[in-house]
Amino acid sequence: MTLYRCALCGRPAGAKWALTACLGDSTNPGAWRREVLPTCPRCLRALEKAGAEGVKLKRTGERWYGGHAVRRFAAKGMPDSSDG
Ligand SMILES: [Zn+2]
Repeated sequence: MTLYRCALCGRPAGAKWALTACLGDSTNPGAWRREVLPTCPRCLRALEKAGAEGVKLKRTGERWYGGHAVRRFAAKGMPDSSDG
């Protein structure tokens, strides 16, 4: 079994998880990106608890969210669906 380092805090992490990061203006679709990164149980809990607020990393200034369904991403070639 591979032991990873948590992408957020550097602690040992057992598995990779779907995360979403936002750097800068959260209203700008380009500020968002999806990642699959090793995450330790402690950070996963923090992300879960933070929910839509996200967890801000002081080191990078990025805000992190658990999962990939946090934010609607503009998909190329798809009609823009309105809220609701
Ligand atoms: Zn961690």
